[in-house]
Amino acid sequence: MEFIYYLFISYLIGVVIIAARLGWHMVFRLDKFDWHWAKDEIWMNSVVCMLLWPLMLLKPRNLVDPSKLMAGSYDAAARFREEARLWDNPPPCGKFIRYRPHKIVASGGDGEFVFHSSDVEEAILARLQDHPHLAKDQLGSVLKWLRQRDESIAEPTPVPDGWWKLHDIADDVLRKGRGEIRCLTCNQEVPNNLLRQNDMSGQPGWNFNQLRCPEGHVLLSVETMHIFVGSRKSTESDQDNDSTS
Ligand SMILES: [Zn+2]
Repeated sequence: MEFIYYLFISYLIGVVIIAARLGWHMVFRLDKFDWHWAKDEIWMNSVVCMLLWPLMLLKPRNLVDPSKLMAGSYDAAARFREEARLWDNPPPCGKFIRYRPHKIVASGGDGEFVFHSSDVEEAILARLQDHPHLAKDQLGSVLKWLRQRDESIAEPTPVPDGWWKLHDIADDVLRKGRGEIRCLTCNQEVPNNLLRQNDMSGQPGWNFNQLRCPEGHVLLSVETMHIFVGSRKSTESDQDNDSTS
């Protein structure tokens, strides 16, 4: 009987210690982005870890740094924190920018592009004319960055990773015959007039607008539509969704 009593007391002491550790992290380490984007995970994981704390001893790393426990889905808090940082404090921008497409849902590609900053600015302005609400999203942030460029910087400035929604804009610029293109698979420059356009529509599953190198490698892939195979029902992710998802 006494053994069970001491076991129970030990368990309670463990609960208090873990609660104190996680509580300290919640108060002093989490910011408004965590609380906005990962609130449910923060509370749920904290309570579960507190109650089942002996299991936490299997992964003591999470006690040293509980950030992963409270990161939330898809690292949303981290992504929006980085976007806000870029909005407030963008890096320097020069006459040219270097862009590599991110793999996002079905969009992506294995190309690297150098664009005239002014061409990208023009493409964004055209996009915002049709979809003005995107000005509050990444496109607005990138536009602000481009507009404060220093034309005397000739070395292409890389597009920060935090801006990952530029597939459509890159596609617009390339299809106007602008930009320098490199296939990272061939490791070769690709003249714009040799780009192969491979656009799909109405096929089951993902549909893309793709630009490929002469060897067929996908340099830029923009998701345009997803057709569910089972129901044959299509959801058209218009370009707003593509740019804001
Ligand atoms: Zn290639």
